[in-house]
Amino acid sequence: MLSFCKALLDLLLPSFCLACEKPLGPAPELLFCPACLERLHFMESPLCPCCGRIYLKAAGGDHHCGPCLATPTHFTRARAFFLYEEPMKEVVHRFKYQGKTACLPTFTRFAKNLLRQPHLAEVAGADWIIPVPLHQKRLRERGFNQALLLARAFFPKDRRVAHDLLIRSRQTEPQTSFNGAARRTNLKNAFTVEKPQRLAGKKILLVDDVFTTGTTVNECARVLKKAGAAEVMVLTLARVKEDY
Ligand SMILES: [Zn+2]
Ligand SMILES: [Zn+2]
Repeated sequence: MLSFCKALLDLLLPSFCLACEKPLGPAPELLFCPACLERLHFMESPLCPCCGRIYLKAAGGDHHCGPCLATPTHFTRARAFFLYEEPMKEVVHRFKYQGKTACLPTFTRFAKNLLRQPHLAEVAGADWIIPVPLHQKRLRERGFNQALLLARAFFPKDRRVAHDLLIRSRQTEPQTSFNGAARRTNLKNAFTVEKPQRLAGKKILLVDDVFTTGTTVNECARVLKKAGAAEVMVLTLARVKEDY
């Protein structure tokens, strides 16, 4: 009976590829067609153990990158599931700017498998999982915080996901409008820790959609560490590619 209902549902609510919108067969496990699935670029070694930058051209093991050696970050490790390239770029765009949340169950499935990998296992052991917060005004405009939805998708029904420990106390311009030092200035006093006693001595995992330059998560990490967190790690759905 149950399988009959499911078959009926599949017929009534056909699934489409999240990237190219091609119709998929009945009850797909992941909402990607074989061609788009093949093009997904998973993050893998060799990478920088700190910022998670991947060395596309290099062979050999993980090693720190120049920028991380020159300026240590406030977070200990940043990891991502995918490289921010097509077709994931399109999926993120539809999710973030068009509110298409059909991708979330697929992300849950990916996270379940990927978080077992050696370079990602450490981030799964955090005491608190904190989405990068949006300012109230941006939240009202968008209707949802994409980082919170991702944190819940990566760690379903996990009581460590907390959206009230770090808040965005000041509205900032989108980081995409700035470069380098201006990105850091734009974020000055943007984040405030709430209930610091709950963070004291804890291992925090920050979750966001895309790791671009890392300025935002680094500022969150600085504020969390200042409030007493023992360690801050970062997990994003995707990470931009740098020519390294
Ligand atoms: Zn496709
Ligand atoms: Zn690095």
